[in-house]
Amino acid sequence: MTSLTFYGGVNEIGGNKILLQDKDTKVFLDFGMSFSRRGDYFDGWMSPRTSTGLRDFLEMGLIPNLDRVYRSDLMEIMGKRETDTDIDAVLLTHAHADHADYISFLHEDIPIYMGDTCKLILEAIKERGQRSFEREILDFKPRTDKKADEIERDVRTFRTGDKFNVGSLEVEPIHVDHSVPGAYGFIIYTSEGPVVYTGDIRLHGIRPDMTEEFVKKATDSKPIALLCEGTRITDPETDESEQKVFSDCNNHVKNNSSLVLAAFNFNARKGN
Ligand SMILES: [Zn+2]
Repeated sequence: MTSLTFYGGVNEIGGNKILLQDKDTKVFLDFGMSFSRRGDYFDGWMSPRTSTGLRDFLEMGLIPNLDRVYRSDLMEIMGKRETDTDIDAVLLTHAHADHADYISFLHEDIPIYMGDTCKLILEAIKERGQRSFEREILDFKPRTDKKADEIERDVRTFRTGDKFNVGSLEVEPIHVDHSVPGAYGFIIYTSEGPVVYTGDIRLHGIRPDMTEEFVKKATDSKPIALLCEGTRITDPETDESEQKVFSDCNNHVKNNSSLVLAAFNFNARKGN
């Protein structure tokens, strides 16, 4: 039997945490931060407390209350001894916070699958910024032992088309175009048929051909279920595109004789 459980990402932008179970195999499709739910209780000046492990996150419903899913050091702080996990993998679509950040809390033995480029971006973010409790994706500092070294996660990378197996599942990642490079959709071959997960996708960007390739392969697989990003799915059609943004910017610069300053800041929190 195959089942899907949605712990985030429904009726909200991002925050995707989707559990796919197939026979005895359990994988999470993304494990991101929910901006809307977090924003209900916290802001830039008020963050969840970290001294109590995951208690604030669980109490406020920012993460699901599940056994054998979270880091053993954080569970220990909360008075629970959990040494192992029954989650077989996380399949991460891309590096945005609302898909990736709460991997920080997951059990250290869970393998995290991500694209080569996605890993490079996460490494760059890690090097650029300060370590944060909510952004310890590639490695983390155990909170129960201040002197302990960082624990590296079991990160397994792929490139588009590289199929791999997780338990009873065969997974085919295919690149898609999104506002961050290294974004993928997945065709997941379960015991009941293929399940397609788009992650975040766009067709108005600079590489629509990548998204079109994914759509073609996903269609050809004849999926039994499609999990689709739909942030702007009901918006009326416009002629907005990345090409239009580029040419508008170009024209502004061309027609301006004074100094022009441009910022190209990677925003890990951008969700769509
Ligand atoms: Zn995104």
